[in-house]
Amino acid sequence: MGEGAGWESDELPDEVDVVVIGAGIGGLSCAALLARYGLSVAVVEAHYVAGGAAHGFVRDDFHFDAGPSYFLGLSSPPGESINGVRQVLDAVGETLPNGVAIYNSLKMYFPEGEFECVANRETYRDAIRRFAGDDAVDEWDALENAMSGLGDAAVAIPFAGMRGDAGVALTMAKYVPPLVKALGNGPRGAEGFEDAKYLRENFAVLVDEHVTNKWLRSLLDLECFVISGLKADATSAAIMAFTYAERHKEEGCVYDYPIGGSMAIINALARGVRKHGGKLALRSPVDQIVCDASNAAVGVRLKKGGRVIKARKAVVTNASAWDTVSALLPESVKAKRTESGDANHTEQTPKCGSFVHLHVGFDGTGLPSNESLGIHHLVVDDWRKGVDGKRNVFNISIPTTLDPTAAPAGKHVAHVYGAANEPWGDWANVAYGSDEYEAMKKAAGDDLYRALEKVIPDIRKRVECELVATPLTQKRFVKKTEGTYGPGVDMTRFNVYGAELPPGPATGVTNLWATGDSTYPGIGVPAAAGSGFFTANSIVSVFKHLGMVYGVGYPKIGKNV
Ligand SMILES: Cc1cc2nc3c(=O)[nH]c(=O)nc-3n(C[C@H](O)[C@H](O)[C@H](O)COP(=O)(O)OP(=O)(O)OC[C@H]3O[C@@H](n4cnc5c(N)ncnc54)[C@H](O)[C@@H]3O)c2cc1C
Repeated sequence: MGEGAGWESDELPDEVDVVVIGAGIGGLSCAALLARYGLSVAVVEAHYVAGGAAHGFVRDDFHFDAGPSYFLGLSSPPGESINGVRQVLDAVGETLPNGVAIYNSLKMYFPEGEFECVANRETYRDAIRRFAGDDAVDEWDALENAMSGLGDAAVAIPFAGMRGDAGVALTMAKYVPPLVKALGNGPRGAEGFEDAKYLRENFAVLVDEHVTNKWLRSLLDLECFVISGLKADATSAAIMAFTYAERHKEEGCVYDYPIGGSMAIINALARGVRKHGGKLALRSPVDQIVCDASNAAVGVRLKKGGRVIKARKAVVTNASAWDTVSALLPESVKAKRTESGDANHTEQTPKCGSFVHLHVGFDGTGLPSNESLGIHHLVVDDWRKGVDGKRNVFNISIPTTLDPTAAPAGKHVAHVYGAANEPWGDWANVAYGSDEYEAMKKAAGDDLYRALEKVIPDIRKRVECELVATPLTQKRFVKKTEGTYGPGVDMTRFNVYGAELPPGPATGVTNLWATGDSTYPGIGVPAAAGSGFFTANSIVSVFKHLGMVYGVGYPKIGKNV
């Protein structure tokens, strides 16, 4: 089915410093960093492959990404990346051995026409003019101006400096001058300092101030949705400001695709865990987090044979907040959470939708060159349905245009998915494999093919391998409640575990920390890896953490770190 470090399983020791539940990007990043800090670590993963939402698989010689394919900052020189996962790899001394392919555009297919979104400021302005007129360009310019200091300010606060206690004053001290410089050095001079308030706001606050044009507002919602699975009113303003600043920077922006797909990143993280003495066990679902008489986490109990792995220092859960509290906490902790209102808070937190996927391996005879075909395509069916409308926005990735090794010679692979816009409720009561399920799956496949036909009109005649996946598949393989993409709220000021808890890895349970995309703003690979830093740093002493921040015994790991 597959090969590489993410497919290999280790024997588990009986006791370690930290047990990490789940080998998603967040769990692996946290474990690799903890191992690099010198702690003994065991990662216990339920699936037969590591990676969670970011795992890859092979079918009939076609290599597929189950999830992410949009990356930024993987190909930066060592020590210069803005991407959290690349910073983790630099910190633990790992690389992507087969390299990274670069490109700089994405094709969008709107009901009113096609738009090649090149990572370039003027091209973006031209497209806005073409679809929405000069007034909309003026509004965009005003918005971009308002974001000018904010993007740099967002980079000035790196993932690596975060920790969950008062020591943060020491680990973040280094970043105060760059933050001040970023805010005060923009075109708005001293007025830029006021932008600090937007660092904790959602993007709609800025959009509402500057943009009235309906088309432009829809485009901005779409951009947010592609990045975070949420519209502007629940997407962090800092993340969007940073995204535009990076994309439109004068020296030019590139996007990255790792050769070997997302699994190349997972394999590198798995190697990073092991090279510092950590263990990664697959097919090892956790049944329960073990707590002592004071309700502090002291280990995990595996489903297989009820074996307990003791944790001297901490347990980290990379399972989503909903899955952790509903399935993994002991009854005594659940009772406390019900009493305090935390149980209700978690249950009431909105979730993003789920996914339908189409994976196809197909014949490439007569298709445009790899460069003209391009890796990424985004299809919007009907603006009136909203960018989060059911099966209204589709992401398409054809990674063989950059990494031909993913398919036999002359063939391609494509991954098409509804962008976190599949309502779980439609599937919740349908039995897997039933006639009703198969009919719904067929209808989903047809919608996904219709989107892919915008890019390759005769795709159906070319197909040699086809897999359609539903929210039930998503739930089963990533083990996430309702097959959700993640929290349906801006996480900048929010913690899914409890209304009174600070944002970040705290769970409210002593010695139990969380990591992954339900603990950090933005969802996505950078957010999950960034959460890995936040959680690992919170477990080690501030002095160990300062070593990484100041590069004492560590290489430089990222822009501004
Ligand atoms: C279709 C799709 C496309 C995406 N595209 C992009 C993209 O292009 N760019 C981008 O940046 N991001 C993208 N993302 C988002 C990104 O992939 C995720 O945000 C990220 O990978 C989530 O990582 P995580 O650490 O939260 O862990 P998850 O991926 O949620 O993994 C959690 C792990 O915990 C394991 N687990 C859960 N419960 C247990 C248990 N009881 N015992 C043992 N193990 C357990 C699961 O099996 C899983 O491996 C995409 C996501 C999807 C689904």
